[in-house]
Amino acid sequence: MDPTSQTIRQQFQRYYLEPARRITGPQAMANREFGFLLFKEKFMVRHRAFRTSEQLLGAIRDLVPAHVYFSTARYKEPTAAMEEKGWEGADLVFDIDADHLDTECKPTHDNWKCKGCGNVGRGSAPKICPSCKNDRFDEQTWLCEKCLHQAKEETVKLLDMLYSDFAVDPSDLRIFFSGHRGYHIHVYSDELRTLGEEERREFADYMTAQGLDPQLHGLLERPIEGVRILEGPAMGQPGWRGRIVKGVFDMLGGDLEKLGLQPGHVKVLKEFDRNEIFRKPVWSLFKGVDLATWKDLVSKSVENAKIDTVVTTDVHRLIRLPGTLNGHTGLLAVEVQSERLDDFDPFTESTAFTESMKVHVKEAPRFRLGTEHHGPFHDESVTLPAAAAMLLLCKRRAEPAT
Ligand SMILES: [Zn+2]
Ligand SMILES: [Zn+2]
Repeated sequence: MDPTSQTIRQQFQRYYLEPARRITGPQAMANREFGFLLFKEKFMVRHRAFRTSEQLLGAIRDLVPAHVYFSTARYKEPTAAMEEKGWEGADLVFDIDADHLDTECKPTHDNWKCKGCGNVGRGSAPKICPSCKNDRFDEQTWLCEKCLHQAKEETVKLLDMLYSDFAVDPSDLRIFFSGHRGYHIHVYSDELRTLGEEERREFADYMTAQGLDPQLHGLLERPIEGVRILEGPAMGQPGWRGRIVKGVFDMLGGDLEKLGLQPGHVKVLKEFDRNEIFRKPVWSLFKGVDLATWKDLVSKSVENAKIDTVVTTDVHRLIRLPGTLNGHTGLLAVEVQSERLDDFDPFTESTAFTESMKVHVKEAPRFRLGTEHHGPFHDESVTLPAAAAMLLLCKRRAEPAT
């Protein structure tokens, strides 16, 4: 193990060994599979099960893992091999991560290096390397206040969708900060638990507006006395109907030139008083903008949910256990009460380490943890509050100072 990993592991061990430490297992914990990613050689211990939270904490104290996971699924035999576990359903889980958001600040704090040819770039890594077509990268990301704020806003939108479109009961749902760059929403509902992968895919497609057809939401042309009249959904209608109109309203207030439309269409849209959109019927007032153009515009203007669809559709997923340390940051994954989501500050409420530590920082931007700001640092030894030092160590921006 390298000296940085050793130091991180020592700190994690001290944290978990505190006599007052408690960890709460998930609902139906005896039927869940647990997994631990160890510091040593990134080895994964899987197929473990625990009857009580105390047993679980005991295992964490023994192993001192970098990451602690549990299955969204419930099994008859969680310790058996995958195909013999006896799947009994899985919570519906949504993952909203800054990795999947297109924030403007990313090029200032994230960068990538192609594992194939060594090509480098700023911001999120591309799907494939532009010079060698390789799809594997070393990525350096940062825990950024703006990115996390946006992830929270996306979480709020997703919650709205779950409540309004799917009538999910708020008491069946829990929200967690991942301890890194995003939020998780877990839905524990008897009706949704037994959904298969196909059905979860439909759920994810609906939320991400995949294949959204405005015609199925009431946007259509109807001949009235020989004239083709455009009809469509109205503001405030439930589900995608209202969301389509809201999207068009927002679009009309934005930069219409950027949409790649015919100049004639841009002119009509620009001259339109967008407050008219609250009037009904409104659609036929846009003279010369036809149904095909509207369908294109709707697809460009709707706000879809920014979720990692792989997480939602996988019914055997292992997901981070709240109350445990995230080895990417040294911060805690924590539950956020839904009424407190607005005020929740991940940079204050997820810190685990107190005291101070001396580290040698290679390179780090200015950042906030708690109420204190630190950095920027460039090749220097500094004594920092332990939470900040641990963040830099976990992010491989610093090494333990001797
Ligand atoms: Zn390359
Ligand atoms: Zn950012």
